[in-house]
Amino acid sequence: MIEKEYDKKPLRDVEGLPIGVAKEGTGELVKTVSFIPWGWKEEKEIAKVNEEAKGGLPLGEMITQILVRLLNVWGPYKFQDLDLAERELHLRNSFFADVFIAYILLRIEAMGELVILVFYCPYCGKQINYEVDLRDIDVFVPEIGSVEDAVRRFHVAPPMRIGEAICTYVDLRPMRWEPVHCMPGDLLGTSDPRFLELAFADSVIGAEGVETHGATLMIEERLESLRKIDITRLAGYVDDTAGGPDIGTNLTCPEPKCKKEFRAVSEGAWGYNYFFDSASLPKGR
Ligand SMILES: [Zn+2]
Repeated sequence: MIEKEYDKKPLRDVEGLPIGVAKEGTGELVKTVSFIPWGWKEEKEIAKVNEEAKGGLPLGEMITQILVRLLNVWGPYKFQDLDLAERELHLRNSFFADVFIAYILLRIEAMGELVILVFYCPYCGKQINYEVDLRDIDVFVPEIGSVEDAVRRFHVAPPMRIGEAICTYVDLRPMRWEPVHCMPGDLLGTSDPRFLELAFADSVIGAEGVETHGATLMIEERLESLRKIDITRLAGYVDDTAGGPDIGTNLTCPEPKCKKEFRAVSEGAWGYNYFFDSASLPKGR
């Protein structure tokens, strides 16, 4: 069981994946990741996936479709020896932290580490183009060796009401990629209830006095019993437990009359159509 806050370090200091992909049988977490070269064949395949979805797939599913084609080694698996359906199954079962980091590592390998993130000041509306070196992104790393170690217990005061139970603790595991893959839109990192429902069902695996008999804890009737304060607390715990990249940026508005400080996630910047487009590159490169 994880007892403490995760360590945070820049991506350049993370070796391989932040959590790792579980080996079948032993549950040992393997952190190896590598890609095949991204050539014309892959470019055409990805364009076709994008086109067939008419206007593009939702963020999560698009990332899945790119990675299943371009990953070479994924933890204990040699992806190029497996068919696409098997690769997708393994990826959706992997941790969110690892899949999102792989997506960023692929951007670095294919197009370099510099990316222009676009923000709008929430106070004056000014557009801010902010250049980021992706290797400087902070990554939360839980430092665990086996999938059984990945459970984290949160003691809750005042207690939480889940269904009929009054709980002084809840147990979470790092969210898998599955809820992000199934997200209906670009809801990552938001508190949209459609995303939270998927995230809670995947990540909240135990609570005091709630018997699950090995099934999902957050079934519909328990979800519907949650109060606002507990939805907010659980969303925070899911975030704290998920690990992986911190995609928020601290900014100071450059507008002389404004100069306000704020923290934001760049809307749209992480989607495939921008993140892998020349528009995301600094000018003159
Ligand atoms: Zn401003």
